[in-house]
Amino acid sequence: MSDQDIQKAARHVSQNERLIFELSSPGKAAYQLPPLDVPLAGPAEALGPEYVRAELAGFPEVSEIEVVRHFTRLSTWNYGVDTGAYLLGSCTMKYNPKINEVVARLDGLSNAHPCQPESLSQGCLRILRDLSKALVEIVGMDAITLQPAAGAHGEMTGMLLVRAYHERQGNPRKKVLIPDSAHGTNPASAAIVGYQTVSVASNSEGTVDLVHLDRLMDEEVAALMLTNPNTLGIFERQITAIGEIVHSRGGLIYMDGANMNALVGVSRPGDFGVDVLHLNLHKTFSTPHGGGGPGAGPVAVKKILEPFLPVPLIRENVDGSLALEFDRPQTIGRVRAFCGNFGVLLRALAYILANGAEGLRQSTEDAVLNSVYLRKRLEGAYDLPYRAPTLHECVFSDKHQARHGVHTGDIAKRLIDYGFHPYTVSFPLIVSGALMIEPTESESKQELDLLADALLSIAREAEQEPQTVLSAPHSTRLRRLDEVQAARRPVLRWKPAQE
Ligand SMILES: *Cc1c(COP(=O)(O)O)cnc(C)c1O
Repeated sequence: MSDQDIQKAARHVSQNERLIFELSSPGKAAYQLPPLDVPLAGPAEALGPEYVRAELAGFPEVSEIEVVRHFTRLSTWNYGVDTGAYLLGSCTMKYNPKINEVVARLDGLSNAHPCQPESLSQGCLRILRDLSKALVEIVGMDAITLQPAAGAHGEMTGMLLVRAYHERQGNPRKKVLIPDSAHGTNPASAAIVGYQTVSVASNSEGTVDLVHLDRLMDEEVAALMLTNPNTLGIFERQITAIGEIVHSRGGLIYMDGANMNALVGVSRPGDFGVDVLHLNLHKTFSTPHGGGGPGAGPVAVKKILEPFLPVPLIRENVDGSLALEFDRPQTIGRVRAFCGNFGVLLRALAYILANGAEGLRQSTEDAVLNSVYLRKRLEGAYDLPYRAPTLHECVFSDKHQARHGVHTGDIAKRLIDYGFHPYTVSFPLIVSGALMIEPTESESKQELDLLADALLSIAREAEQEPQTVLSAPHSTRLRRLDEVQAARRPVLRWKPAQE
């Protein structure tokens, strides 16, 4: 076959894919049911006419095989943790063990209703209680709420707790200090709770500048919001000194726990001076992540913040049964309906129990080993602006490639051609042209080598044939998109062609 023939055939395939949703013709249906033999009120009588559409404009009428092929084909256009490595730094896109899904689908759990009586919910309550205990132990704190639905929601909840604590002391205080390497949700969460945010500089090591922190820390500062290890993947070695500066002037330490994949089983935030932190179960504890699906951002606290936790908490009765406790006079109230995203919490507990203490520690060590291995393989080809030892992720810059006009976004797009999901682009902001890479413990050495080879190959291309990188991706269904238009005028659903 000539190249031309191959291209013609490929064009035919893509035409066919494009048209499948438009194969509609009146009267086609994807099911066959026998005629009704019982009287049935029309939908208008059953529901009320205001709930009945006069027509389904443009809704496709297709056969069963067409609809099956359509959705099956769409599923193969996706990239996900089940199809390949996901390098997103700060995101911890680890493998979601399938055993979690089996557990989450057990009838007694998936059909449990949040309004069923406590006497029929003892198993569910026990799951929430056991998860609470495990997480409190892992982070070294005293109490926890499982309610928040995501990391950012946990941050807001944590800051509400900080505010409630200071109000109780007589002064809610005005400011929250946040290192300049922080995730954007940190200042947003502090601001939403009414605090003014003040940026703390990083030093040349990439960690908190203690002199600057000392200067900023006064009696109007409610808390320092810290990520540890920080978004460069570097552990704050001076965490004890940081804690002393903040605590001595009455402030609290909030820790963003998104990077707990570097600490679980090795180091506990409660032991290094943290007063309140959130966890991202959809990151560290392997529950599905992304696409806007449910997550969970439990918030763990030291004793001094416990009275303010959201209601309900879980209480153990004298007879050993469990109950939801609402009678907590100093609570900040509810932050979410019922007890949080139960299915996510359940998967996290399954993951913790399946691994056990030893397994969790091993995951952490493997995550760090994988990341350091990748760092060592890439160090020569990519600039590493902060050279301090890193844990589960590391951040390169595009400085060498930028000399040839190739930037981090271009390298990311070229990586797609090599079959990998891009790393995190242009974050943290303190690194210009950042490539932030977190392989997690899930990837094998073979996969890490393929990935390193791909990035090294792209570095060579940037030098020798930059145009190849600048025009990537070449192998995808759609080529380089207009990102501004995609953000400003997103087209999120299929519409029938205008007649
Ligand atoms: C992911 C992340 C968050 C926000 O968590 P969500 O669950 O996405 O709301 C906050 N901080 C850091 C460092 C993160 O990586």
